[in-house]
Amino acid sequence: MRIVRTVAELREVLAPFRGGGVAFVPTMGFLHAGHTSLMREGTRRAGMVVASIFVNPLQFGPKEDLSRYPRDPEGDARKCEEAGVGVLWCPEVEDLYPEGFQTRVVTGELAGPLCGRSRPGHFDGVATVVLKLLLAVAPGVAIFGRKDWQQLRVVERMVEDFALPVQILGMPIVREPDGLAMSSRNAYLGAEDRVRALVLSAALREAEARWRRGERDPESLRSRVEAMIGAEGRADIDYVEARHALTLRVADATVPGPLLLAVAVKFGTTRLIDNVVLG
Ligand code: AMP
Repeated sequence: MRIVRTVAELREVLAPFRGGGVAFVPTMGFLHAGHTSLMREGTRRAGMVVASIFVNPLQFGPKEDLSRYPRDPEGDARKCEEAGVGVLWCPEVEDLYPEGFQTRVVTGELAGPLCGRSRPGHFDGVATVVLKLLLAVAPGVAIFGRKDWQQLRVVERMVEDFALPVQILGMPIVREPDGLAMSSRNAYLGAEDRVRALVLSAALREAEARWRRGERDPESLRSRVEAMIGAEGRADIDYVEARHALTLRVADATVPGPLLLAVAVKFGTTRLIDNVVLG
């Protein structure tokens, strides 16, 4: 595995793989099995897998965890290599946002609700960096996790809107054996909050079971998830929402299409997200 820092180095290393032979997995590092599942999928899709590790300042709000975001460069490099990554790109902030940088992607309706409401500017920052990364790597396929469902939809929309020549692939959420969705931010959780946080996956699992038994009313499914999470006294709910999974408009039982149940909940200072897509 080659580790590269600059765009110029990246382009040189990837020159022999031009023409659709590259799969790309962008991450912010502190890698876990959710990330490596995307990389392994990359090895099945292309002869060369490129992963990036970049904690993107543009997508963090002023009161968010940018400076304390967990990092483990050596561990990450080892996990990438084991997962079949051929080139690991770790750009510096100055390389992606040099002095004078001022152009950004402006996202639209998909970025409005859910995390977009609690994190103003977040998805513009995500879309801007993803566009920069896609232009530099020029992959045939880029692989994202459904754990960040709204991010996946925003990226899919941007790729369509700009007619970018890349296929976007969304992969299933990888969970801990007890159900907690894997996340780099789980490292912030104290032992007690780690146990409390299980209510998120438990509530979504129950909603899925109710869906399978025939419950189709979005509000009924949503409010039960909210009640279960609310019953965990220490959970500080940001949102529990039922939305059309593709448009992210408020779910309406009369509009056909898959239903997204999405939650964002704080335990102490740690904000966790999880979701399930039904139908
Ligand atoms: P991050 O490092 O949090 O920016 O995540 C990088 C990529 O990994 C994104 O496409 C995420 O959706 C994906 N990802 C993060 N956690 C998981 C998970 N538990 N299962 C599947 N994909 C994940």
